[in-house]
Parts: sequence; structure tokens; C-alpha cells
Amino acid sequence: ATPTSIMVGTGRAAELGVLFRRGDALQSLQGVAVVALDKTGTLTEGRPSLTAFETAPGLDRSELLAQVAGVEERSEHPIARAITEGARGEGLTPASPDGFEALTGLGVRAQVAGHELLIGAARLMQREGIDTGALTDRAEALAAEGQTTLFAARDGRIAALIAVADRIKDSAPTAIADLHAQGLRVAMITGDSRATAKAVAAKLGIDEVVAEVMPDGKLSAIQRLREHGPVAFVGDGINDAPALASADVGIAIGSGTDVAIESADVVLMGQGLGTVANAFAVSHATMRNIR
Ligand code: ADP
Ligand code: MG
Repeated sequence: ATPTSIMVGTGRAAELGVLFRRGDALQSLQGVAVVALDKTGTLTEGRPSLTAFETAPGLDRSELLAQVAGVEERSEHPIARAITEGARGEGLTPASPDGFEALTGLGVRAQVAGHELLIGAARLMQREGIDTGALTDRAEALAAEGQTTLFAARDGRIAALIAVADRIKDSAPTAIADLHAQGLRVAMITGDSRATAKAVAAKLGIDEVVAEVMPDGKLSAIQRLREHGPVAFVGDGINDAPALASADVGIAIGSGTDVAIESADVVLMGQGLGTVANAFAVSHATMRNIR
């Protein structure tokens, strides 16, 4: 591409809400075959709320929720905020924990009122040998609706099923349809469970899901998607920075974290996905004019 055509293309893109931090991305976007999007904060609002807290038979729900909220108050994860706000919304005061430990990509652990609490994904319970028993079916039903389900175990026994739900962004369905219309394959990468991820993907018509990805696993997820061709990755979070830097083209949400924006080649202005397809359209138009 000539410097002039790149300049015209990046100018046109800016009018359409797309900032090219690197001019050569206009060229590389044209070869992209797969657009992989992070789920939380990119396809969804990233501000989940507590939708269910159901205890195993015989346990005091309010007492347990106050204890779980106390542990989660120490965590910075959006799921943790949903749980503490949910508990406060019910008029409960979170208990004070001791010995808090974050189990990255899996959950959290701490002691509360002489009890050992473990809170997190089903795969964390499996790893710790905790049988989720009668709460398993209910969790599967909520996950099939696209809700994120977690469990709390107290002193090594299953104690509660927790569900949080995060709204899909209004701009997401059209953005995915527009990417499909340009012949692109659309994938989703998330740390959430396979069942939840598949339900969200089905609602959006996403072609491929890579779920239960540990925080350092987004790179290998992108590598895997390269079997279809060059990959553009769209993300917003601190944890997306390595994937944004290593994808063939990294695209950050404008309202995302500074780290994500600095790692990206392209930035979508605002908080939505409404302009993502414009990036590809301008790239194709620019490269077509050159040839
Ligand atoms: P993502 O935010 O994309 O889902 P993470 O790696 O941050 O990816 O989290 C992966 C999973 O680990 C979450 O879906 C959840 O099941 C579990 N998890 C992480 N942090 C917490 C927490 N504070 N409380 C409960 N579960 C958690
Ligand atoms: Mg995110």
C-alpha cells in the first residue's frame, strides 16, 4: 500500500469510529480469516449481577451468603463484586475472612468464623475432590441459559450454588452478523465454563468456542484458531494484553483498560462492538483500491 492510501484509509476509519494505532494493520486485517473475541467485558457488559444463591439442605442461607460475600470482598474479580453487592442488596453484612487466597482462573479460598470456605468454578470443586451433589443439575440448567455458575464448599463439603449473569452488549449481535457478512469466522475465548460459554455463543451465532481458558492460555487458544488462517483478537482487559499483542491483529475496546489499548494495533472508539466490522470493511476497500 502507498503511504497516501494508508493515510486516506486510516482517516476514513477514524470517521467510522476505528483508530489505527499502526498503519500496517490496515494491510494485515485484509488477510484475517478468524475474529476471536473475549467474552467478559467485550461481548458482555462485564458487570455481572448475582442471580441465584441456593444452599445445600439444612444450611442457613443468610449466614452462608454473608460468609461467601466476606471472602469475595477480598477479590477484585467482577464475579466477586456481583456476589458482595448481591449480599448487601439483601441487607446482609459480609463476614471478615482470614488467610484469603486467590486461585487464579478458578476461584478463591479463605477462613471465616472458624470455617474453611472454597468458592469457584465446578472444575475447582472437582480438583479438590468435592462432590457438588444435588446442586449439580441446577447449575447445569442455569449454565445452559448462559449464566456463570460457581459453587461454595465449606469445610470440604458442598454448601451452595451461586449464579451470576452478565448482559450481552446491545451492539454484539449486529457486530457478529456484520463480521459473518464479510466472510469471517467468529470465535469466542473465555475462562468461563464450557456450558455457559456455549449458551452465550449460541445466542450470538458464534462459530467456535474456546472455554475454560486459564489466564495465561489465551495465547495458545489463538494459536489453535490459526488453523483457519490469520487471527484478529478483540479484547478489553488487562488479561487480554498478551493475546492482543500476539494475534495477527489486536483490536481493543476503547473503553477497555489502558494496558489492552497499548497492546493493540486497532482501537474501537466507545464501549460497544458497533464499529468492529468497519475496521475490516475499510481495510478491504483500501487494499482493493491499491490493486
Ligand atoms: P473470565 O473472567 O474470562 O471468566 P478468569 O480467569 O478471570 O476468566 O476466571 C475464570 C473462572 O474462575 C471464572 O469464570 C470463575 O468460575 C472462577 N473465578 C475467578 N475468580 C473468582 C472469584 N473471585 N470467585 C469465584 N470464582 C472465581
Ligand atoms: Mg474481558
